[in-house]
Amino acid sequence: MTEPTTPLMQQYHAVKKQHPAALLLFRLGDFYELFYDDAVVASRILQITLTARNKEKGQAVPMCGVPYHAAENYIARLIRAGHKVAICEQMEAPGPGKKIVRREVIRVLTPGTATGAGLVEAKENNYLAAVARSAAAGTATAAGAAGTGRAGARASENAIGLAFVDLSTGEFRATEFCGEKAEARLRDELGILRPREVLLARPATLFPVTMAAEMDGLGAVETRLDDWVFEANYATRILEEHFRVAALEGFGLVGHSQATAAAGALVHYLRETSAIGARTPEDSAVIPSLRPAGAGLEHLDRISYYEQQEAMVLDAVTTRNLELVEPSTGDDASATLLRAIDDTATGMGARLLRGWILRPEIALAEIEARLDAVAELKSQTMVREEIRKTLEGILDLERLTSRVTLGVATPRDLLALRGSLDRIPALRRLVAVSFLSTSSSPSPSTTTVGVGSRLSSLHQELDEMADVRDTVARGIADDPPALPGDPGVIRRGYDAELDELHDITKKGRQIIASMEERERKRTGIASLKIRYNQVFGFYIEISKANLHLAPADYERKQTLVNAERFTSTELKEHEQKVLSAEERVLAIERRLYSEIRESIAREAGRLRRTAAAIAQLDVLVSFARIAATRNYTRPEFTDKALAKKGERGVLMIAGGRHPVIEKLLEERGERFVPNDLYLDGESQFLLLITGPNMGGKSTYLRQAALISILAQMGSFVPAMQAKLPLLDRVFTRIGASDNLARGRSTFLVEMSEVAAILNTATAASLVLLDEVGRGTATFDGLSIAWAVVEALHSGARPRTLFATHYHELTELEQLLPGVKNIHVSVQEAGSEIIFLRRVEPGSANKSYGIEVARLAGLPTDVIARAREILRRHEQSEEKLRQELSPGAVAGGAPATPARQTSFTAIDESVLDAIRGADLNKLTPIEAMNLLATLQKQLS
Ligand code: ADP
Ligand code: MG
Repeated sequence: MTEPTTPLMQQYHAVKKQHPAALLLFRLGDFYELFYDDAVVASRILQITLTARNKEKGQAVPMCGVPYHAAENYIARLIRAGHKVAICEQMEAPGPGKKIVRREVIRVLTPGTATGAGLVEAKENNYLAAVARSAAAGTATAAGAAGTGRAGARASENAIGLAFVDLSTGEFRATEFCGEKAEARLRDELGILRPREVLLARPATLFPVTMAAEMDGLGAVETRLDDWVFEANYATRILEEHFRVAALEGFGLVGHSQATAAAGALVHYLRETSAIGARTPEDSAVIPSLRPAGAGLEHLDRISYYEQQEAMVLDAVTTRNLELVEPSTGDDASATLLRAIDDTATGMGARLLRGWILRPEIALAEIEARLDAVAELKSQTMVREEIRKTLEGILDLERLTSRVTLGVATPRDLLALRGSLDRIPALRRLVAVSFLSTSSSPSPSTTTVGVGSRLSSLHQELDEMADVRDTVARGIADDPPALPGDPGVIRRGYDAELDELHDITKKGRQIIASMEERERKRTGIASLKIRYNQVFGFYIEISKANLHLAPADYERKQTLVNAERFTSTELKEHEQKVLSAEERVLAIERRLYSEIRESIAREAGRLRRTAAAIAQLDVLVSFARIAATRNYTRPEFTDKALAKKGERGVLMIAGGRHPVIEKLLEERGERFVPNDLYLDGESQFLLLITGPNMGGKSTYLRQAALISILAQMGSFVPAMQAKLPLLDRVFTRIGASDNLARGRSTFLVEMSEVAAILNTATAASLVLLDEVGRGTATFDGLSIAWAVVEALHSGARPRTLFATHYHELTELEQLLPGVKNIHVSVQEAGSEIIFLRRVEPGSANKSYGIEVARLAGLPTDVIARAREILRRHEQSEEKLRQELSPGAVAGGAPATPARQTSFTAIDESVLDAIRGADLNKLTPIEAMNLLATLQKQLS
């Protein structure tokens, strides 16, 4: 680009050069303006008009702008669209004589670093993640596997480190993945976290294309940093400095160099973006959430190291298939588990619930502690509803606290904080009632409730924060201005000097007001006015027409078109007093306000603990309410007792329901049909489920997983009774799920997902396979499905539910011990098929498809012909069956009855034609013709 002509555009280019990757919002008066490509991008996202600024060397400059006071909303949209936004402010007030005001970027907002209430989702975390991997790792893995001696020492070097932070809540954690499955496990973790932004080292070779592709699916922006930022040594230094500790031992990071590296890169990046300019512009017209985070990152006061295996693992595919937090197709958000069971009252509770869904527990003690609390809250209706009502008035303490420590909390934020804290004493009393009532009347079923229970420890963690409430109550006025820089923030009576100054200005203004009346009389000018403005202070204004009446002691100050402005000795004297007092009022208020804010910030740890306790209480109350209103029961866990006997736990669900579909049906006045399920590790670990389309197979599969997940979250479950094993993972794979949007063959996706199960499932996993194999030709699909069942059987033997349309698979019941058939039942009533939705033992009626065709009114000769075709295929199939399972035949298994599945592509097309025929529109002649064509295809 050629040199810009105007000083303003020169300034713009200089600033833009420093922030090439961000959309630059350039403050011009009351607007933020964007230019060039930035303007084109922003106008598209924001749907605002693209205009052009005066030509630069003959070229019109594209431009668009947003008013500063509404900027937050616009910026939020830019950030959600995955852009970074640099806020460039005017650093001095424009005044006469100044050629051009100084402008600086005060803050760069990125999808992962935004914190303002308007910028992030209330019910979701806003994660910024960093992924680190040592430069040697990519090449060293092969060598590492062969070597023996130094393998241990190298373990952490070869690991992949992940760290993530939610700036709006202060959560900061890190972990590491080792071994050959490290990348897959990293993907799982990122799939759960759904970070808004991910930091990676610049050399793209460390993270091959797959990584980038994976991020695509996540919708996260990728930010590349120089590789030295990810050096473990640098990271250790920057973290020690940040946390003001001599060593990172206390955080569990020692020995985890890559987790440390990732965490260090995060802090490095946050320092660069959040707290960019040390200065705030003089101009107070900058909305608070866009101000630089002055106090910096002090609220990130700790980091914790964790291991993925500390929770039940749900990979991204499973999370999507089970529709845990997002619908898998369409955008009916009400179809998710989260929506179906979210009865929380606060944003903190909603976020925690989401976290629990995505990371169910595996520690039995923790699960039982939660279940005890839910049982207690469920039984005590009155107390529970009182707690719930109290929770409703509590705002997002977690995020308010972060705003305080970030230094961006407004006076109104502090009032909101106090209003929420005011409810804690009542909350504590209610919680105390809830657990004390039990300890006095112990019931046999709930052994651990009472003192020492989860409710009592939450009671202890709830801090009434009387000191903070008192500080706000004494210090902040009832109806303060929106911005801390404006007068009127501090309450009267808080500071004697401030009160005195207020009196002075009030008196001074009264005197000036009475002067106006007096001067009107003295001069005889009825329209004489005494007014004030920012630039010229107080003045006496006389219109041009009355100018000749102006007294000689008036001093001329300013000339307007229709009037003249004056001052007088007396006015000057009072002006001096008023203005200097007002100036001091502002200065004192600012000082007092930051003192108050800082004193609260010092209590951030207590506030955060209290917020966490409230969040947990909120979720437990939500569980209890749902359990009470929807008739959920407490699950029992089987593993503990059985483990001693060396057996694997039983999974037994009596009268189980699908929590989401049940709720959706109920809203339409329909009833869900409950079903039973029995699985154990030995005699019945794999169920093959057959039955017609729409019979309820997929629903049955999913409800088993959802019930297990709910139970391990510590919730009651939709069933009459549930005995469950502790699961380490749930896998869900759906055949031919429509993944074309991601540009990979659906079948390839399906198979790579199945491969992951065969490679990772353990005996403690639950595997759901829904129509696996459907994504390819019938024969291929059946063969693969068959082989997968055999592999699960000879391998880890995870508890498995396999819904299939391949009736041939049901043969496996006879071949493999532990494999059993079940089916969803239907009833024929006249020409109607009624789906009973009941799951029953045995495989489905195999001629079912033709029956449906008959019921649907397909001409009898077509039906007859179809039966004949079917018989032919049975013969060829019989041969196949003998090859696959010679033992079964030799053992005298009953001869295979009629079945409908066909094997060659041509047969498939015939069946498709029959299926696709619109019988209502077919004339008898057309039906004959159709039949003739079909016959020809077969011969
Ligand atoms: P399939 O997988 O056998 O084709 P689905 O599990 O998708 O069948 O079920 C089809 C529809 O039937 C579901 O959308 C649901 O509305 C309904 N349904 C399934 N199971 C039940 C049940 N147990 N009670 C009531 N309705 C059910
Ligand atoms: Mg299905």
